[in-house]
Amino acid sequence: MTELRIGVVGCAGRMGQMLVHEIVRTDGCALAGGTESLGNPALGRDLGEFSGLGHLGLSVGDDAEKLFAASDAVLDFTVPAVSVRHAVLAAAKGAVHVIGTTGIDKAGEAVIREAAKKTPIVWAPNMSVGVNLLMALVEQVAAKLDVRYDIEIVEMHHRHKVDAPSGTALGLGRAAAKGRGVELDAVAQRVRDGHTGPRPAGAIGFAALRGGDVVGDHSVIFAGDGERIELTHRAGGRQNFAQGAVRAALWAHGRKPGLYAMRDVLGL
Ligand code: NAD
Repeated sequence: MTELRIGVVGCAGRMGQMLVHEIVRTDGCALAGGTESLGNPALGRDLGEFSGLGHLGLSVGDDAEKLFAASDAVLDFTVPAVSVRHAVLAAAKGAVHVIGTTGIDKAGEAVIREAAKKTPIVWAPNMSVGVNLLMALVEQVAAKLDVRYDIEIVEMHHRHKVDAPSGTALGLGRAAAKGRGVELDAVAQRVRDGHTGPRPAGAIGFAALRGGDVVGDHSVIFAGDGERIELTHRAGGRQNFAQGAVRAALWAHGRKPGLYAMRDVLGL
């Protein structure tokens, strides 16, 4: 069987390390290499030794173009500007691009959409099976409950996280808005501070907590009169994200160009 050659950009990062391990342990996959940013201490080191997997004969490089050319698929959990640049490279080289990076703005999204006309790109703020199931459930529940049920999304992440609300919280907000038949941007209340006045009917509110080593908790609350429905997902480790990313790469390989989400990968 031909193995899928998978590269990891940002291979020394928290997710990058998980991804390297997941590729090595997954049947049908071969590690194609890894890159890091200039000045990163991992540069030049053996990817396997650096990741605690023993010698693999692949050194951590800084040439993304070379990695995209040598890979059938590239997994990318880095930073927004870098992932957007990589999408252009993926399109040029015809490699599958799996983007897990969060915090990508509208301008970046436009570039990714353009690149996805030339190659399959899977872009998901959260690659876990459980969270994607939660998104599908939130959409269903929101479609059944009218605006007398206020929707609030609460998330908590570790102290190192730099963007808020989390990409997953925003994804859950979009799922709720879709269920209600509205645009999230038109109803989102992302920040509340000071004299905010009463809650507007139909708003979708967000609250972001930061602290400790919390991997990622998300709750969607539907608060009505006299009752409350709460749908919660708690991530206990990062393996689920890495498993989802590798699954996305295997699924997307050989598909026609397009921008795909995890719900496509999981058939939800
Ligand atoms: P991290 O800071 O530990 O890792 C990011 C890595 O990218 C770093 O090692 C950094 O040096 C590297 N990098 C930066 N610029 C680069 C470049 N030009 N070329 C190559 N590498 C470069 O962060 P993390 O916790 O691993 O998270 C990374 C991203 O993934 C964040 O946006 C986070 O929110 C997101 N994330 C998504 C999911 C998901 O399921 N979609 C899950 C966890 C994290």
